[in-house]
Amino acid sequence: MTHTAPGTAVTDAARLAPALSEGATTAAVLQGYQQSMIGVFGTPKRVFVRGEGVHVWDAEGRKHLDLLSGLAVTALGHAHPFVLSAITSQLSTLGHVSNFFATPAQVALAERLVAMAGGGPDLPAKVFFANSGTEANEAALKITRRTGRTKVVAAEGAFHGRTMGALSLTAKASYREPFEPLPGDVVFVPYGDAAALAAAVDETVAAVVLEPIQGENGVVTPPADYLTEARRITREHGALLWLDEVQTGMGRTGSWLASQAGEHPVTADLVTVAKGLGNGFPVGACIATGTAADLLGAGEHGTTFGGNPVAAIAGLAVISVIERDGLLANATARGEQLRSAVEALGSPLVAGVTGRGLLRGIRLHQPVAPAVADAALEAGYIVNAPRPDVLRVAPPLIITADQLQTFLDALPGLLETAVGGAA
Ligand SMILES: *Cc1c(COP(=O)(O)O)cnc(C)c1O
Repeated sequence: MTHTAPGTAVTDAARLAPALSEGATTAAVLQGYQQSMIGVFGTPKRVFVRGEGVHVWDAEGRKHLDLLSGLAVTALGHAHPFVLSAITSQLSTLGHVSNFFATPAQVALAERLVAMAGGGPDLPAKVFFANSGTEANEAALKITRRTGRTKVVAAEGAFHGRTMGALSLTAKASYREPFEPLPGDVVFVPYGDAAALAAAVDETVAAVVLEPIQGENGVVTPPADYLTEARRITREHGALLWLDEVQTGMGRTGSWLASQAGEHPVTADLVTVAKGLGNGFPVGACIATGTAADLLGAGEHGTTFGGNPVAAIAGLAVISVIERDGLLANATARGEQLRSAVEALGSPLVAGVTGRGLLRGIRLHQPVAPAVADAALEAGYIVNAPRPDVLRVAPPLIITADQLQTFLDALPGLLETAVGGAA
């Protein structure tokens, strides 16, 4: 026997982190957390110990419906059997070799992503693999520097990550200011305003970086022709169009990439993806098309882990299950179910539903979204509040109509609890 049975592997993990499995109370784990974890995330509200499908269980044995997917990551839900078997079989065959060498898995995933971003016989496209969204964006930012220009136009409200380069493109003052000076030559324009973008882009601009939908800013959807306009404007001035699809990509909004959906598909020069790509296995990618594909030369960028065969297999497994199970269509259908049900509530507190597919913002007339999220958690539903007046719902793409409906049925009560509590 050279292979370990899955059951044994689970037992081994439990032995390595006994506090999570041998009856330790939530309070004990959280005390350890407070003492040994750098405090950037605040105080966690739950200690989770197990997940299966759309559900997770906390250390007290309470079951929760996961409507956030670990921040738009676990698109196939927890412990998906296909992903699990792909990862474990790759890991037990070949886990890591470094980028001195190639692996079949890495090339297969690159080919899938190239096709996804619009690459083909007429448009060469190439991939750089990273381990996260921010790193995928760092790669893209370095590519923009090789245009011979340095200026980047980004959007107000944008979120592109926390490392210094990606942070320089992230608008939020409280994220940026403690770490200034950041890499410079970045200007911010109002999001969704094509005229403002046109005014900011000239022959000195290396790239325009945009999210197709601003997830962290509260699921803000731009006008339908905004990306097409951005494409036209960048082309006119020889600037790269860089779309950050870290949150919107990999089927989250009902198409592989949000930028390629509907009546206004756009092929960008740079596309970054991460979150949903590995279903929780850390993997990100920067896909460069056309001339952008060859801007970085040998030795100009690198990574030790990026694109290792386990990460690559995770991405391939995710793509394969989304295809096999028709999950793009499910994301669209469940997203519509959510939108129409929330609108039909006719709640005076609800201002509207934003987003597409299964990346949704429920906009409120009052800044009570954190209280609604707390009430939801108490009731066994995981959502979050990216803004005080927006509730974000981003369930696994595998969620069924009935599972989603339980939350939609509970929502009026949760809104009432929150307003009552806030008053
Ligand atoms: C989450 C996110 C990032 C950063 O990804 P990490 O994996 O957390 O580094 C970048 N861009 C967008 C649009 C995101 O939503």
